[in-house]
Amino acid sequence: MITDILELGEQTTVRGQVVVVGSGIAGAEVATYLARHGRDVLLVESGRDRFEPSIQALNDVIFVGKRHRELNPNSYYHQYLPPELRGVSRVRQLGGTSNIWTGKWTPFQPLDFEGRPWVANSGWPIRYEDLQAHYQSTAKDYGIGDLDEEAKRPEIKGLRSTMAAAGLKVISFYWQQTPTRTAIQFGEEMRRSENLRVLLGATATELKLDESGQRVTSVVCRSLEGREVSVEGDTIILAMGAFETARLLLSSDRQISGGIGNQHGLVGRFYTDHPKHHRGYLRPGSLVQHYAPELQFRPKPRFSVCFALDDATQREHQLLQHTLFLEPIYERLVQRVWRTLQGRSAYRDNNGTIATYRVNFVTEQAPHQDSRLRLGTERDALGQRKLEVDWRLSDHDYRSIAKTLELLTQRVAEVGLGTFEFGDDPPRLDAMTDAAHQMGTTRMANRPEEGVVDTDCRVFGTDNLYVVSSSVFPAGPKYSPTFTILALARRLGQHLLETTSVSPVTLSV
Ligand SMILES: Cc1cc2nc3c(=O)[nH]c(=O)nc-3n(C[C@H](O)[C@H](O)[C@H](O)COP(=O)(O)OP(=O)(O)OC[C@H]3O[C@@H](n4cnc5c(N)ncnc54)[C@H](O)[C@@H]3O)c2cc1C
Repeated sequence: MITDILELGEQTTVRGQVVVVGSGIAGAEVATYLARHGRDVLLVESGRDRFEPSIQALNDVIFVGKRHRELNPNSYYHQYLPPELRGVSRVRQLGGTSNIWTGKWTPFQPLDFEGRPWVANSGWPIRYEDLQAHYQSTAKDYGIGDLDEEAKRPEIKGLRSTMAAAGLKVISFYWQQTPTRTAIQFGEEMRRSENLRVLLGATATELKLDESGQRVTSVVCRSLEGREVSVEGDTIILAMGAFETARLLLSSDRQISGGIGNQHGLVGRFYTDHPKHHRGYLRPGSLVQHYAPELQFRPKPRFSVCFALDDATQREHQLLQHTLFLEPIYERLVQRVWRTLQGRSAYRDNNGTIATYRVNFVTEQAPHQDSRLRLGTERDALGQRKLEVDWRLSDHDYRSIAKTLELLTQRVAEVGLGTFEFGDDPPRLDAMTDAAHQMGTTRMANRPEEGVVDTDCRVFGTDNLYVVSSSVFPAGPKYSPTFTILALARRLGQHLLETTSVSPVTLSV
């Protein structure tokens, strides 16, 4: 059932066994999973079915460090979106950011969870094996192609071994035709389900604790129209993305100074993204003759590949993870004539003759605590303190990108993939934008002195408050975070089924 907060009376209390805040991929997955397994779930969402600019404005932040991308209605890069959403990195609407994302899926590899001695704060307290089954089951349920089978294809094996000989690695990803939009994928289920209730237009503004200070008893939810309701639950799951989850924990500071889960001052810290450069080209080399179809961007759905320096090189030079995507740009008539006059070979894939590849280069950022979010003094339309975002890069980030580009340029040329053409605009960290991959602000750890949530995603110091988001990533080495968010959501759903019992429902919307 889907209800708008305006349909409820003033000062109403609504209750679910499980309350999930946020209806993006993380929140929709854990809410539908638990509801299908018999739990009474209340999904609370700040946005509504339609995009409303005044609700979206509740996401506004103040940048006090490196800035994010900006709204750019003319952006070439986000042509697939309506102009008002080109450059937006988080969406407040039913379905959250899944309404605009691109739909590239790739799981983390075992090494991504392991601590790398040359990257401070890089390890996860869980292992790849802890998520493996959840990657597999969600891949099946969401129609994500089988990347293990893909790895066995002779062409991919050939490409991998050629690249490996040159000190490069190949990363495969699955690209959906229509990216999962949770409001569409789960819309019917949300409307019809008896034990999944969705409350729209309800912005969570505060978490209330019982006298012990350890149990969240309710979530205060308010609307821009002035309606306020109290949402109660036995288990509360925050799935609001890395910025808003940290903001709600910090804002809930009336009963605990500094906010919930913040006893060690770590909420909002270790914020990372994937700095990104998408200007520049790669002039194709002879290897493209054999492998161009593997690099195609269309038709979708499809598997495609991207590249990086291999793990041994990263270890040897103490580098951060990074990814090189190559988008084929096809030849026009005038380019064909010019190429023919120059006597250059034609490289073709199944879509046409390739004029060049547009380069999209992204890098990991080393996690460090001074890159952070905190509450500022400015307030939003609900009177909530806005976030100040102090996004900072470290010396390691600068050193790593310089060496990575030097080695990549050499090796990509030597192996015959091609030659970079960056003109007078090579990738520079200071000019790189975010990738809309906010991570790390409630990091997962074994001990409260090191993070905000434990290995089950439960907020330290609380009995019943959980987080599911890339905010729990202690490090985000791999480019696409969403498959891992989804696997974590499924894992949390399973954990709650195993560890919590069903209590009778007292009140409902
Ligand atoms: C243009 C673009 C392309 C992308 N492409 C890719 C890609 O190809 N591959 C990939 O892996 N990742 C990609 N990403 C990142 C990906 O979209 C995110 O990782 C993912 O959508 C995050 O899902 P989430 O559920 O954690 O958060 P969100 O989808 O942001 O959901 C958070 C939800 O919480 C709600 N909310 C927030 N605050 C409150 C509050 N106080 N009260 C109630 N509700 C609240 C929001 O309205 C929203 O619905 C892309 C991002 C963008 C912007």
